[in-house]
Amino acid sequence: MAKQSNLHCSFCGRSRDEVKILIAGQEGHICENCVEHAQEIIMQELQVRDETRTTQYKFNIRKPLEIKNYLDQYVIGQEEAKKILSVAVYNHYKRITRKQQQDDVEIEKSNIIMVGETGTGKTLLAKTIAKLLNVPFAIVDATVFTEAGYVGEDVESMLTRLLQACNYDVAAAEKGIVFIDEIDKIARKGDNPSITRDVSGEGVQQGLLKMLEGTEVLVPPQGGRKHPEQKMIKVNTTNILFICGGAFDGVDKIIARRINTNAIGFNVNKEEQEDQRKNLLQFVNAQDIRSFGLIPELLGRLPIITYLNPLDAETLRAILTEPKNSLIKQYTRLFEMEGIKLTVDLDALDFMVQKALEFKLGARGLRSICEHILTDAMFELPGSNKKDLHVTLEYASTKFEKSKLNKLKVA
Ligand code: ADP
Repeated sequence: MAKQSNLHCSFCGRSRDEVKILIAGQEGHICENCVEHAQEIIMQELQVRDETRTTQYKFNIRKPLEIKNYLDQYVIGQEEAKKILSVAVYNHYKRITRKQQQDDVEIEKSNIIMVGETGTGKTLLAKTIAKLLNVPFAIVDATVFTEAGYVGEDVESMLTRLLQACNYDVAAAEKGIVFIDEIDKIARKGDNPSITRDVSGEGVQQGLLKMLEGTEVLVPPQGGRKHPEQKMIKVNTTNILFICGGAFDGVDKIIARRINTNAIGFNVNKEEQEDQRKNLLQFVNAQDIRSFGLIPELLGRLPIITYLNPLDAETLRAILTEPKNSLIKQYTRLFEMEGIKLTVDLDALDFMVQKALEFKLGARGLRSICEHILTDAMFELPGSNKKDLHVTLEYASTKFEKSKLNKLKVA
């Protein structure tokens, strides 16, 4: 038997001391470097065979109404956004199938921008659509990208995420959906782009152009920066749907300036007038987004613009209980798995909503509020004799007052 000191990688010949890990096989050994290389080769091979490989993703085209009905099960309110998304997504996938029929009328791609405060359901909408259609889905944050050559990530790395989401099934990824969050954060910094290099703003916007429109991109399989010796996977983005989301803080002022606020209320009653003034986002258009700092070329590749409403108490309350996988349904199931019946009083639900509004936590905050109220019970009840948990207003407020979250309260 070989002595410990003689051990070496049977592939590259490196000795035990030169590598971190040496895996033993029946006849020899392999080091971690060679495993990595082998993996890359496998991926390359799979890509080559991909044209012949049948994808496990059988994507389901749905009619706009079906898409909307499905979204209704998971997303509360946001009627306008749901409708616009349903139509855009339907047209997008119809376009893909028509292309296969060699139709001579080219239907343009319908990439989308969603404008709305954080936590109003932008990501949830995109994610839910991808689930319904059974297409690969990736969420990326525009703020991590910088122009090629600078510290940060190349825009191509968003396709790495998409490939990873479908286990490198290139054919499936090429029909997937990428959700680019915080697109507003790559707005041009100021009106004159030539004063300073804008590597994380306009530079990134430029970098996105080709990809959004449709091109062949060489994607590093493991993400990060491209480097010469890395093997790349070729991905065609023509049929990838890009949905961008952003809060576009301050765009309401731009909209107000544009539409001359007095004109809004024309022909509607006072209440409606007030409502319109409060939610100017409903009037957002490409011109406003352009004034905000997205370059016209990019906007041209994101032809569909829609908005999300801020969440009011009524919507937050519905979010707690109504969606198919609502928070309360999730907690009920968790307790049920322990043989415990959870009931939550209506005024306890109202209390949670009130706290989410008070602390400006939005829908995302509802989860941490529930968590703080229910943690003690989730800790103590499993294994005990208690078979039910009744959350009253008093229970909820006592647990919440004791929680750390409560200490965050802004004076
Ligand atoms: P955004 O992308 O707009 O910042 P998200 O879609 O990530 O917000 O929303 C955060 C969470 O809040 C979601 O996972 C969901 O639980 C909840 N949520 C937000 N808006 C809604 C909504 N309209 N209906 C149902 N749940 C929502």
